[in-house]
Order: sequence, then C-alpha cells, then structure tokens
Amino acid sequence: MEYFKISLRPHKAIVNAEYCEELIFESFNILRKTGQVYENFCIVRDGGAYAVYVIMPGADALNLEFCTEESVEIIKKLAVIFSLKVESVGEAITCEASCDCAKPSWYMLYSDLATEESPVVCGDCGRPVPLYKLPAILDKEGQSNLINWQDQFKALQKLDMYNYAHDFTAGEVLEPTSRINKMGRALCRAMEKATTVPVFYHLERNRQKAADVCPICGREWSRTANEEISQKLCTFCRIAVD
Ligand SMILES: [Zn+2]
Ligand SMILES: [Zn+2]
Repeated sequence: MEYFKISLRPHKAIVNAEYCEELIFESFNILRKTGQVYENFCIVRDGGAYAVYVIMPGADALNLEFCTEESVEIIKKLAVIFSLKVESVGEAITCEASCDCAKPSWYMLYSDLATEESPVVCGDCGRPVPLYKLPAILDKEGQSNLINWQDQFKALQKLDMYNYAHDFTAGEVLEPTSRINKMGRALCRAMEKATTVPVFYHLERNRQKAADVCPICGREWSRTANEEISQKLCTFCRIAVD
C-alpha cells in the first residue's frame, strides 16, 4: 500500500493559519470516515504551505467516483484556499496492498490491532478491501459504522493485551454475544444485504474452550477454500474462526 504526500500550496499568503489548519484536520477526518485515507495522517507546516502525509488504500482513493457528497464538499473548501497535489512517496511497509479482485465471492470483517488497514478482508485474495469501494451501510455518508466498530474493537484488544479489566475486555473480544461482537455481526448482515455477497464475521477463538463446533449454533464447521484467511466457517451464523 502506498504512502502519499498531499501538498497544499495556498493561492495567496495565508491570513488565518488557525482556520486553515483546522480545515485541513477536519477534511482528513472526513476522508477517513469514508475509508479514502487511513487514520494516522500527519499534517506538516512548511513555511507558508502545508503537506499531509497519509496512507491511502489506493492511488484512486480521491477520485470523484469514490467521494461522498461530504468529501466533495470538503475538498472544494480546501481548493478555495489551496492548490492540491498528490504524489506517491513509496510503499507503506506496515500495510498490505489492497484487494483488486473484480468481484470477491465473500468478505470477512476482521480487526487487527497491528494495522490501520480496512477491516474488510477479501475472501478470495485475503487482502484488505478499500472501504470507499463498498456500498455505504446504515450510513448514507461513508463508512463510519465500520470504522467506529474497528476503533472500538481495537481499543478493547489493546486493553485486553494489557490485561486491563480482564474479565470484561476478554469477554467482549471472545464472547459471541458481547456488545462489540453483536455490533460487528449486525454490520456484516447489513453489508451482505448491500453487496449481495456473503460477509463473515471473524470471531476471535477462545483458546480456553474447545472449538469443535460453532459456539453460536452448535453446527459442524465448514472448511474454507483459503485457510490463510480463516480455517473454519459457520455458513449458518456467518462467522469465521482460526
Ligand atoms: Zn481480493
Ligand atoms: Zn453457527
């Protein structure tokens, strides 16, 4: 996945730097909500100009066809003050290349604490799917539902990693009926409706318990065609475990 430098050169000398900096920050937060840019962008002031260093899931991320009304609006607002130039800086080694399959046959929703990649994985190639290429679900303006779920799941994984409030955080991560897992499964159902392609929810395996059958419905597991993505699927509950 590529790292980009987005240069913002003002048309004329900036009078209100505070306003401009807030606008840039707000703009990239909106683009993050639509999945067009990833989370950890960095805004740099260089003399009278600015640059934003950011990972985007693809070089086409800012194309008009992938913009929501809100992202078009915010890019227009920036263009009133700045001329924008997007250039690739190089490969971001912490993020895998995005899926470019024409039509994935299934997806999986998955949270990985170690990366800021899209939480939707392509079932065919196993790579992250740019959220801006998926239909918006439950939210007309972008993908904030999926990103909110991912943010919350990662926060719980992090607390669990530090053993903080262990009973609570481990329960949230591992129990199929926890609030966060119910939220994720509901998002998968909504996404499946919108894409008409099966969407599985990756359930962290509880290593303390045997995993011979699906922990929700008790049915036998199905094998996946691609064990690198997930080893077992319950096609009835639409969950995937390792
Ligand atoms: Zn793919
Ligand atoms: Zn099941």
